[in-house]
Amino acid sequence: MPPVSATTTTAERTPMLAGRRGIGESILVKLFVVLPLLALVVAVPFAWGWGLGWLDVGLTVFFYYATGLGVTVGFHRYFTHRAFTANRGLRVGLAIAGSMSFQGPVITWVADHRRHHAYADKEGDPHSPWLYGTSVAAVAKGFAHAHVGWLFERDQTNAARFAPDLLADDDLRRVDRLFMLWSTVSLLAPAVIGGLVTWSWWGALTALFWAGFVRIGLLHHVTWSINSICHMIGERPFAARDRSTNFWPLAVASMGESWHNLHHADPTCARHGVLPGQIDMSARLIWIFEKLGWASRVRWPTPRRLDQLSRR
Ligand SMILES: [Zn+2]
Ligand SMILES: [Zn+2]
Repeated sequence: MPPVSATTTTAERTPMLAGRRGIGESILVKLFVVLPLLALVVAVPFAWGWGLGWLDVGLTVFFYYATGLGVTVGFHRYFTHRAFTANRGLRVGLAIAGSMSFQGPVITWVADHRRHHAYADKEGDPHSPWLYGTSVAAVAKGFAHAHVGWLFERDQTNAARFAPDLLADDDLRRVDRLFMLWSTVSLLAPAVIGGLVTWSWWGALTALFWAGFVRIGLLHHVTWSINSICHMIGERPFAARDRSTNFWPLAVASMGESWHNLHHADPTCARHGVLPGQIDMSARLIWIFEKLGWASRVRWPTPRRLDQLSRR
């Protein structure tokens, strides 16, 4: 990597990419993507009903939403877009919860996502489905790239350019460095709870499978659907400069993130589901944090702002 000269201070002059991922890290990324997917598509059809008790269901739902909200409220709406201000405890808690989703360390996640908004659906966007063309084959290739293929690319987004605020935060850098620890906790915690509650190795194993691997696989593909489906299929009621869409079938599973067209039209808004009936669990949780006094200066949507953003 060329040395950064003292004059390259503005964001534009700092390179977009920061070198390439090493082989070891590359293999790890593939494992993190492929193992939960295998649990999902290979093991679930065989295992359906097998060893699946109510405890496993409860643990799966709990860890799905706890880590998912860590991503949507923490990684996305707070760390990437600063839709609100959080106190230190909430900031660290959200960073750890999001880190347990097997979606990479917080600073990497935020840098990639800010780059997505900076170049949305144009050259430079790390995961646009529209970079190959509009023929059927090109769209299929674009979908695969946006959904999961981009994760295997070895170019790394330059955090010094896209996330200098996070790099300057000691707490965040520490949480970021301990990513492997949070990943381990994410798999072991359900197993330990399952084992202790049923007082059996069998209970630990089924909880590890369902609330560990299957839960991670499910959340992976819901999160990645925001990058793929929510830039391809759905409604575009708001004036965004890209091809982002609102896709209602994923509203509950994605914790409100599938109202993605509003999000691109107004990225710092704390609520993405702004129209009547649009469920947004992440916004509800931010509202609870605000009532508890842990979050402040929340950027809630106003009728005037929505009117400006509307295509009508
Ligand atoms: Zn997007
Ligand atoms: Zn965003």
